[in-house]
Amino acid sequence: MAGLIPEDFINEVRSNVNIVDIISQYVSLEKKGKDYLGLCPFHQEKTPSFTVNEEKQFFKCFGCGKGGNVFKFLMYKDNLTFPESVAEVAGFAHIPMPSGYEASGGRSSNPLIRLHEDAASFYHQVLLTTKAGERGMQYARERELSRDILDHFQIGYAPENNVLLMYLKGKGYSDDDLAQSGLFIQTEDGRMFDRFRDRLMFPLGNENGQIIGFSGRRLSQDKTQAKYMNSPETSIFNKSKVLFHFAEAKKAARSEKRLVLYEGYMDVIAAYKAGVTAGIASMGTSLTDQQIYLLKRITNNVIINYDGDDPGIHAEERAVELFEKAGGFNLGLVILPEKLDPDEYVKKYGVEKYQEEIKGALSPTDFFLRRLAHKYNLQNDREKLLYLDEAVKKIATISNPIEQDLFLKKVADKQGVSLESLKASLMREVRKNRRASQRNRLQQVEEDPQPVTYENERSLEHDPAQDRLLYLFINEEEARDFILQQKFLFPDANYAQLAELWLKYISTHENPTSNSFLDFVPERLQGIIVNTEMTQMPDDFSEKEILDIIHSINLRKVNSQLNELRDQIQDAERKQDVAEVIRITQKILELKRNQGQKEAF
Ligand SMILES: [Zn+2]
Repeated sequence: MAGLIPEDFINEVRSNVNIVDIISQYVSLEKKGKDYLGLCPFHQEKTPSFTVNEEKQFFKCFGCGKGGNVFKFLMYKDNLTFPESVAEVAGFAHIPMPSGYEASGGRSSNPLIRLHEDAASFYHQVLLTTKAGERGMQYARERELSRDILDHFQIGYAPENNVLLMYLKGKGYSDDDLAQSGLFIQTEDGRMFDRFRDRLMFPLGNENGQIIGFSGRRLSQDKTQAKYMNSPETSIFNKSKVLFHFAEAKKAARSEKRLVLYEGYMDVIAAYKAGVTAGIASMGTSLTDQQIYLLKRITNNVIINYDGDDPGIHAEERAVELFEKAGGFNLGLVILPEKLDPDEYVKKYGVEKYQEEIKGALSPTDFFLRRLAHKYNLQNDREKLLYLDEAVKKIATISNPIEQDLFLKKVADKQGVSLESLKASLMREVRKNRRASQRNRLQQVEEDPQPVTYENERSLEHDPAQDRLLYLFINEEEARDFILQQKFLFPDANYAQLAELWLKYISTHENPTSNSFLDFVPERLQGIIVNTEMTQMPDDFSEKEILDIIHSINLRKVNSQLNELRDQIQDAERKQDVAEVIRITQKILELKRNQGQKEAF
């Protein structure tokens, strides 16, 4: 993007969006008092410390320290430059960029992402419009993938020969970018060949829907080739962080209030056809912590619907464990009958039946008890006792007593045992768990890991006294005039520079706000502004308050000078340098006289 974007335009964009709306697309925010709270998208945390202040239009994470205005958020989140971030927010507000600035047309600044997006639309066009794509179309018809579905998922076809290589070279991509993209296999002498050939292509997107990789399904009968093939890991594609269809599902989850997790992308597509639009899938690997964290930032309500066969159910059990370890999820589990996968089920029983299965998802405890019952021969008394023992252990981990009761009753009824006896063994388990958790808590206090810190944000020393003065200096004109009258200088160079910049800023801008000022100050100083704005400070002040703060800051300055001089005296005494001792003593007395300190040295 060429040149600087006019400031008027930036301010127009700023005033036409609400930071809460923009951040809500990435983080599930909950209103707490004046602020909105959510899980930080920049570091992993269990309890929300990521805060958005709607009134001031700032965000700040009190865990890792990242903070700023709406532009800053997207710069951090999507790794954008400032102009790219302005363009992104303008797009959200449906404000067209001024002429001459729309050059990037919403395209990523990362050449590898642009390359992938070009590749995806190339494959898509090949599938839809070319003779070579006819093979892919035939398969798509067999799988009942309509035009809408092909478009929504941007499904394409990778033909034989090196057509993608030729196409991308024609678009001017460098050999280096081509080699790094993972879309080509390179021979030892450096020649490149298309990695995906004769495959139906499913683009894989990142959190924002930018394409970063592909999965290709083999169309030929050649069993020496893998049926499914993914892009290799690259600088933009990390399988453990990718969820198929995540960017779209995220939008749908806002109205559907839940996400549905599948095993493979054909299931996500089948579910989409059946009207479940908030479906996602991990990419042929078991779920990772990073993927779970992605979900957690969107919603706590997750339904898991893996294949109904044994491997599918085992994978579902493992997924439940991971979600429970992460904590805070409201899970629903679907086990489809006849060992069907969602795709097969929808074909056999139709859309409505499938939606009923989703609605009737089991709670994790129901799921566990059902699975447990399959493990034992309940006609055999010895096995039945083992079953009851394990069932009670599981029920004992439920925190809600009414829910505990409900499940105990279910088990008692089904197995024909008395509720009282089950309750007695439950109480034993509960006591045992309580003792264990107390032991754990003690251990945890000792082993509590240090929170993650980010060097550049943390290296700025925040000083509450200077924070308060700077806040008044920026937000209250009268206070500013009074502070200037006192000829007060901020002792810390960073605060001093901000005060100076603010004076410059207000002399050149109409209606200056701290939010627009942020884009004007150097990166390393922005944290101070965000911190003063996000600390709930009163706007009321008195001259006495200001004088008291100034006095305390000056006193602190003198005290630190005194401490330094005292160190120097000790050094001089050690060296028995009498002249130096006298010189420093005079300096100390002078300092104290100036400060009006009466206490004896
Ligand atoms: Zn954070």
